[in-house]
This record gives sequence, C-alpha cells and structure tokens, in this order.
Amino acid sequence: MSAPSKPYLLDFYPLEDEKQTRIAPFFAHLRAGRLTTTKCEADSSVHWPPRVTCPLCHGNRLVWVDLPKEGKLYAFSALVLGLPMGMEGDAGAVVGMVELGNSGVRIFSRIRGRKYEDLRVGDPVEFETYDTGDGRVFYRFVSKL
Ligand SMILES: [Zn+2]
Repeated sequence: MSAPSKPYLLDFYPLEDEKQTRIAPFFAHLRAGRLTTTKCEADSSVHWPPRVTCPLCHGNRLVWVDLPKEGKLYAFSALVLGLPMGMEGDAGAVVGMVELGNSGVRIFSRIRGRKYEDLRVGDPVEFETYDTGDGRVFYRFVSKL
C-alpha cells in the first residue's frame, strides 16, 4: 500500500498496513469481502470495533470472527450542513447505525443506495466494500430496497 496522498487531517480513512495498525487483519479480511471483528477466547465477548485487548477482561487471546453481512437500519441521519473540508461534495450523504443480524453488534457506517427521505428505521441493508481510491479498502452498507 502506498502512503495516503491527502494531508492527514483530511484523511478520513484509517491506515491499514500491519506496520501502522495492529488490526491490519481486519482490512485484509475486507479485501477478501469479509466483515470481521474480534472475539475474546476467555469470555466469548464480541467487540466492535475490533480490538487488540479485550475491553471486558483485558486479556489478549482474541480471535477473528465473521459478522453477518446483512442488517437493519437502527438509526440514520444525513450530512447536510457543516461538512468537513474535503467532503463538501458529499452533502446529503446518509450515515447510520446498522444492527447486524442477531450478533448484538451495531456499526456506524455510510449508507448508500437510497436518499435520506426514502429511508426508514428497520430497512434492510447489506455490507459492501469499496476502494478508497488510494489503495485502501473500506466498508459501507447499501439499502436492499
Ligand atoms: Zn475477554
């Protein structure tokens, strides 16, 4: 992966390389189309976002587990005013909390495929990955309606 070309403060995507983050496997899994997170082997707690230490027992015996790729909109909003520099072209973009199946995990994410006005709490959404344009990959959810 090449270094991000944007100034750091305008770079909204995490650094994904194993030299830059200890959760690099998460991004490797994204590249393979998998949505994963960490689970503690000691107490079976599932974390979001992925961790390097269990927030419950502070142990570090964590394993990677797949999360459901489908979920429901738990809450959502639209980015209308006060967008940060570099995101001016994204006015109207939808962000939301997605509840993933029965996993107990809720993920904050961009929501694609439907306008804010046409979305409802409980609408089905599906995980997808996308190329950030500089060699990195990230995730978002797309409306299934
Ligand atoms: Zn634990």
